[in-house]
Amino acid sequence: MFDALRAKLLRQISNRPVERLAPIARAAAQLDLSTRSDDELSAAARTDAGEAASSDEALASYLAASRELADRHLGMRPFEVQLHAAAALLRGLSVEQATGEGKTLVLALAAASYGLAGRRVHVLSANDYLAERDAQWMGPLFCALGLSVASVTGHTPQAQRRERYAAGIVYVPVAESGFDLLRDRIAMSADAQVSPVRDVALIDEADAVLLDEATVPLVLSAEAGTAERIDPRIIEVVESLERESDFAVDDDARAVHLTDAGLTALEEALPGLELFGRHHHLLAQANVALHARHLLRRDVDYVVRDGRAWLVSQTKGRVELLHRWPEGLQSAVEAKEGLKPSARLEILDQVTIAELVRGYGTVVGTSATLWPAAEELFELYGIGAGHLPPNAPCIRVDEPVRVYELSAERDTAALDLVHAAHSAGQPVLVGSPSVARSEEFAATLREEGLDAVVLNARQDAEENTIIARAGEPGRITVSTQMAGRGTDIRLADAARDAGGLLVIGLGVFPSTRLDDQLRGRAGRQGDPGRSIFLASLEDELIQQTEPNHRTPADVADGGLIRDRRLNEIVGHAQRVKEGEQQSLRGLTHRYGRLLRIQRGRILERRQRWLTDDASLAEAWGLIPEKAAQLADQVTEDAMHRAARTALLASVDRAWTRHLDFAAQLREGIHLQSLARKVPLEVFNGEIARAFGPLLDRSVTSASRILARATVVDGGLRLNARQLGIPSATWAYTVSDYSLGSELDRMGRKLKGKDRRGYY
Ligand code: ADP
Ligand code: MG
Repeated sequence: MFDALRAKLLRQISNRPVERLAPIARAAAQLDLSTRSDDELSAAARTDAGEAASSDEALASYLAASRELADRHLGMRPFEVQLHAAAALLRGLSVEQATGEGKTLVLALAAASYGLAGRRVHVLSANDYLAERDAQWMGPLFCALGLSVASVTGHTPQAQRRERYAAGIVYVPVAESGFDLLRDRIAMSADAQVSPVRDVALIDEADAVLLDEATVPLVLSAEAGTAERIDPRIIEVVESLERESDFAVDDDARAVHLTDAGLTALEEALPGLELFGRHHHLLAQANVALHARHLLRRDVDYVVRDGRAWLVSQTKGRVELLHRWPEGLQSAVEAKEGLKPSARLEILDQVTIAELVRGYGTVVGTSATLWPAAEELFELYGIGAGHLPPNAPCIRVDEPVRVYELSAERDTAALDLVHAAHSAGQPVLVGSPSVARSEEFAATLREEGLDAVVLNARQDAEENTIIARAGEPGRITVSTQMAGRGTDIRLADAARDAGGLLVIGLGVFPSTRLDDQLRGRAGRQGDPGRSIFLASLEDELIQQTEPNHRTPADVADGGLIRDRRLNEIVGHAQRVKEGEQQSLRGLTHRYGRLLRIQRGRILERRQRWLTDDASLAEAWGLIPEKAAQLADQVTEDAMHRAARTALLASVDRAWTRHLDFAAQLREGIHLQSLARKVPLEVFNGEIARAFGPLLDRSVTSASRILARATVVDGGLRLNARQLGIPSATWAYTVSDYSLGSELDRMGRKLKGKDRRGYY
């Protein structure tokens, strides 16, 4: 990177901008407004909020007034450091504050000020539970300030959404905001749009949203008949293929591909078919089946429940009910597990979380693990971030990572730790990057007569209640990474005396940020606590990034490795993984750029058709005789309605096909013969070419639909099959499951690691 740019970045990721706001928070904390009435405070807050962006005095005065109201109506008097954090959010800076510092209140103080200043505010939460909880919890403060508040979740009926979005402050899960965006984009009438105004986004758990989940596409799709089953012959061949000779798995176990011998076997099993020509979809099926067979592991990558396979999100370690795999993989896993095929879904539209967030005018956020991500947040989003100290000093003891030779030895060591803590009445929270590992460990605990509560992919419904009790004396909770996030773990007095919460990591996570999220469960607000991570050389992360590590020389009894240099292996593995994830985020952004511009052009025209009657003449204009004839028989309004339906349905179908084309391009099928060109250039060239005639063709196809319109009861009836409007849609997220996403592989190819010459 150029030095000048580097220097600029370093300036941007300094903590100074946040530190400079300290005097404002101090001034606010010193203002005593206890004698003022609620009405006076709310009136003052309103005036001050309007000027808080430019005047330090107004900002301090707003914070003092809202502090007093929070004290009276929420029973919480914001600490000075919370005022400081709110000030940062109001000056466009994101802040890191440790777990338990009261970020919910911080976000509410900031949301209220933006709201009073006339901005439209969305507080983006991690899930439905938190959106509902926080809107309700902070409600009395907003009410005292004369602001309306609402939450929108997956359970909110379509009919109520528009009204809820009209509230001054809206608490909404990130994904839900995205689904509403997508549904609005395919609305068949302006009335059907819920039209949320995306102005200010205040993001809770911001690093998870902006980084860990940034590349996850939110998808709107419609059922398009039963899924195409993978050809049974393919399943059969794939079963018979031998590792190494017929197919190879990449060193890091993320991609699998057929060797020449494997291809030959496939060709022999499918005589007469052109795998590299007309029947290339069969080759794609074989790859997907191979992937499902050899890379996806039951209970780790997916679980089987209620007769179908559910994806386990690797970042959260739990089942996402709305998650589905990328096209094809679902049915491959269904075939592998002998399940009935679920319906095939056709993608109508999609948006990544990163794109959704970029659609807001102002974006700020909080998190307990934001600061280490500050540089990337600035590069990707232009977001400035800083950090603040805890209100009460953190006395949690974080021990250095212990590395064991074997996974079993690590588990024994963990078991000893749990035993000791439990018998002393200390609560223990065990976290692990893998669902299978947490299950196994919980089983071991039970065999030992230790009663453990397990939070994992299989029972995510009550996780918040369970996690809330994790601070009871002697309680043992086994949890995957993000289970129950946002819920406070309060220590019972006896648990505090026993040393507070002990956090044990069974293996390190793919990034130190994720480790820190688990650690942060202990030691909130000056509580005692301890965290210990136990890794093993057999852990997936280390196997993937360091398959050829040397055998340790200095191993203690029980497998603990004493060689300090080998301990470095863990940090290195995490950095490699973080680097990979980071380049994937950049790549996804670049690959999505042209599609976003194209979508924007379509939506512009689409919105005109939706709202401007005059624009509808376009479609009738192509069939003037038919138009004149119909116009004699029906009202002008009926003519408009028919043209609108035909145009919108046509352009939506065209976009669905375009997305499908782009997805196939990414699958690499069309790029095989172009191996020597730069993939992004090829990709952009191809989708630009495909997009060129898209809008004109949509108008033509609309006119074709109108040409067959019939007069029924004084109105126009169009052919439903020709229109092809989906009767029901599905909104879900496709996981960025870390194995073999196509972009991911491209990313590694760009770094020169992919040997297949696929692109
Ligand atoms: P975070 O999101 O930062 O982890 P929460 O917003 O969940 O923290 O708050 C943690 C706990 O601290 C909650 O139980 C909340 O009631 C309490 N809390 C927050 N701010 C204050 C305050 N100023 N005074 C008293 N309790 C507070
Ligand atoms: Mg929180």
